[in-house]
Amino acid sequence: MTTSQRGKPVAPRIKGWCPGAWRPMASGDGLLVRVRPPLGRLSRHQMLALCEAAETFGSGLIELTSRANLQLRGVSEASWPGLMDFLVEHGLVDPDPHSERRPQLLLAPDWQAGDATFEAVRLLEARLDELPALPAKWGLAIDAGAAPLLGEVSADLRIERAAAGGLQPRASGGLQSRASGGLLVRADGRALGTPVDSPAAAVELLIRLAHWFVDSGGREAGRMRRHTAPLPAWAPAVMAPAAPGPRLALGPYLEGKGLWGRVVGLPFGRAPAAALRAAVDSAAVSAVRVTPWRRLLIEGKAPTSVPGLLDDERDPRLGVDVCPGAPLCEQASVETLALAERLSGRTEGSVHVSGCAKGCARQMPADLCLSGRDGRYDLIVGGRADGTPVATGLDESEALEMVSRRWVR
Ligand code: SF4
Repeated sequence: MTTSQRGKPVAPRIKGWCPGAWRPMASGDGLLVRVRPPLGRLSRHQMLALCEAAETFGSGLIELTSRANLQLRGVSEASWPGLMDFLVEHGLVDPDPHSERRPQLLLAPDWQAGDATFEAVRLLEARLDELPALPAKWGLAIDAGAAPLLGEVSADLRIERAAAGGLQPRASGGLQSRASGGLLVRADGRALGTPVDSPAAAVELLIRLAHWFVDSGGREAGRMRRHTAPLPAWAPAVMAPAAPGPRLALGPYLEGKGLWGRVVGLPFGRAPAAALRAAVDSAAVSAVRVTPWRRLLIEGKAPTSVPGLLDDERDPRLGVDVCPGAPLCEQASVETLALAERLSGRTEGSVHVSGCAKGCARQMPADLCLSGRDGRYDLIVGGRADGTPVATGLDESEALEMVSRRWVR
């Protein structure tokens, strides 16, 4: 735990890497083992296998992270090798440990075979070895549907749909106006991106920009949004992405062209394996897609209601982002989950409860944020967990009282 003078935000310990499966992270309740579902999708059998793995080797809890990964908690050093054999056997983890050192690929969860997102990710997967060595937290968002869905998700380079109109590359060089929204590649932290004329061109430009990031000293900044060097002349940022699309709403999902199912929510991003098994343990379910919004899209005919999962878009827990907190995370000095439960439905707007200033559960500002420090809470309004607090040193009842007094519905 850090010590500090109250009133000043304290930098949490930044480890500079994210846990994986081959590189689990020690946490307050054992090892944290994170699985990156290929193409953001698990077959029904893989989902059932993950549930079995959570119960056999871990605490029985499965978490869905803000980067759309699934993670198991409470794995011991002794059981980890057996878990890895199991995960590899079921195609949940790449047998090559080096694969986890590559940037994470984040896909818009509504992709369909043959669309621009699918085509771009297939092309990119075939060229991953052409990427330079990048900082461990790098991510690439492949988000080429009709409207970007992943704009709030942590990623360093994005392939997105451009707003209709604007400019596109001309075959003979230069730019020409376009009639409808094409693709663009956008560096994180920049409002505009570079138009391209195909998924292949997007992948080519993305790889070039990754090299430019390294060659222009980006490693020191670590992430693209913190790398303030001007973009190179061959990647002019001239086009805005299309207006963002909505998150997948809880309940029936019907997109046409063969993708249909049901969207379920995980309360505070976690659920018992038994609840997830109950949601998918039917031959009428074919697969499960992960999202960065604490929601899963179950492909096929899933039950309309499963105890332990959310199925109502009005559920107040959907408005609260919360990390595991103490005692599950070693960096936390406060509990978070119980406070998040008490805050649910008591406030307007977005709420973030964070065990420390690192703010793992939400990188964007929240209307109201309670961030742990030295065993107490800082209250931040309209900011991130590392923002400047308006009140410090609150215990849980003081935090609740303050929130109720000023922000109660
Ligand atoms: S934000 Fe939460 S999960 Fe992340 S390091 Fe801090 S206490 Fe741990």
